[in-house]
Amino acid sequence: MEKNQEFIVTIEDMNEDGAGVGKVDGYIWFVKDAVIGDVVWAKAMKMKKSYGFARLMEVLEPSASRVIPSCPVARQCGGCQLQAMNYEGQLKFKERKVMNNLIRIGKFAEDEIHMLPIMGMEQPWRYRNKAQFPFGKDKDGNVIAGFYAGRTHAIVEAEDCLLGVEENREILDIVKRFMKEMKIEPYDELSHKGLVRHVLIRKGFKTDEIMVCLVINGNKLPGKERLVEMLTGVDGVKGMTSISYSVNQEKTNVIMGKEIVNLYGPGYITDYIGNVKYQISPLSFYQVNPVQTERLYGTALEYAGLTGNEIVWDLYCGIGTISLFLAQKAKKVYGVEIVPQAIEDARRNAEINGIHNAEFFVGKAEEVLPEQFEKNHVHADVIVVDPPRKGCDVVCLDTILKMRPERVVYVSCDSATLARDLRYLADGGYVMGRGRCCDMFPGTVHTESIVLLQKSVK
Ligand code: SAH
Repeated sequence: MEKNQEFIVTIEDMNEDGAGVGKVDGYIWFVKDAVIGDVVWAKAMKMKKSYGFARLMEVLEPSASRVIPSCPVARQCGGCQLQAMNYEGQLKFKERKVMNNLIRIGKFAEDEIHMLPIMGMEQPWRYRNKAQFPFGKDKDGNVIAGFYAGRTHAIVEAEDCLLGVEENREILDIVKRFMKEMKIEPYDELSHKGLVRHVLIRKGFKTDEIMVCLVINGNKLPGKERLVEMLTGVDGVKGMTSISYSVNQEKTNVIMGKEIVNLYGPGYITDYIGNVKYQISPLSFYQVNPVQTERLYGTALEYAGLTGNEIVWDLYCGIGTISLFLAQKAKKVYGVEIVPQAIEDARRNAEINGIHNAEFFVGKAEEVLPEQFEKNHVHADVIVVDPPRKGCDVVCLDTILKMRPERVVYVSCDSATLARDLRYLADGGYVMGRGRCCDMFPGTVHTESIVLLQKSVK
């Protein structure tokens, strides 16, 4: 086979990134946008020794799980890698991916793994409470909002992402009208000129409160009173609670600037996960799918098996979502997180909820935990970890093994590092108990998993 040659291939599998995988004469092809079970016509794009990448030209025989993507720009955008698959197929893909990693990387036998069926969403659309739209111009010079196409920074117009809330479109419309009225230009990366870079929109799903923050390449927003009037007036947006702008004059891919100028409202919106209240400002971290977050952290609470007497550590605690969930049922919760602002939020969130048995440390889990254990002889009945994709540091795992809590609850956004770390803990005297995946990001290849480990009696 040569580059640009076209061929027919049956898609037998899908890789981690959601690309279809098929074989022709023993040679492996990755075909983006092809679905497991499809027979497709593909074109060879790039070839390595034992595998190659091909472009999907036409689906000749569609897989039983193939659907027409609901979003017209699904293929261009690439934000949702699995939109051509029905939801049932997506959930199966995610369960299989986690299971494969536990077996292949974790070296667990199938009968050691007790994964319950994945928690899917009833409505796998419009689940994101946060959106950031870049602004630019189309080829006719009209102001548009959308997403960056592929690896370029050309903006493709798309104002109604189906993962986002319906209000996004209304808000973008108002911002565009405002810009036209005030003769405000969108930002242009190449010349570093123009004002409006991004618009950040957040919504509290339980409170219906809405936040809008314009990210601008300047320190003044001309006509800011007019913007407030348009967003909050009779033709404005229901639930508008907080309006601000963020100053970002750097030549950078980072979206938000560090400085926030408040224009309307208290500077934050309020939302709840379970019965815990959160104040969310433009720069705060907050889980993007609050419905599934509540289910995932509810499972963490269940697996933690608290009776009210336990000392619990929540490592990689972020803004303390899990900590505050657990604090209601534990004697004491200690949270550890590397980002100081997140800990500030965690402390404030504890305070506004009247939670007094949670204490937070700023620092690396692999430094704070050993230090507290060795110097202060702290104890743990339960340790919860929710690390970033790279998983837990080995020093952190070693300290957990030394502390020998009754239970470890591992929440993970990357099943490869989950499998690696579970193997380490299993070799150190823990037994894998129940586990479950939770679909926090329908349409995409990402999945969260949660696994309970128990101290072995030996
Ligand atoms: N459960 C949290 C989210 C966890 S995401 C919540 O709901 O808010 C993983 C977190 O780990 C991030 O907040 C990240 O800043 C933090 N982190 C990354 N490396 C770390 C380390 N070495 N020690 C402690 N925290 C770390």
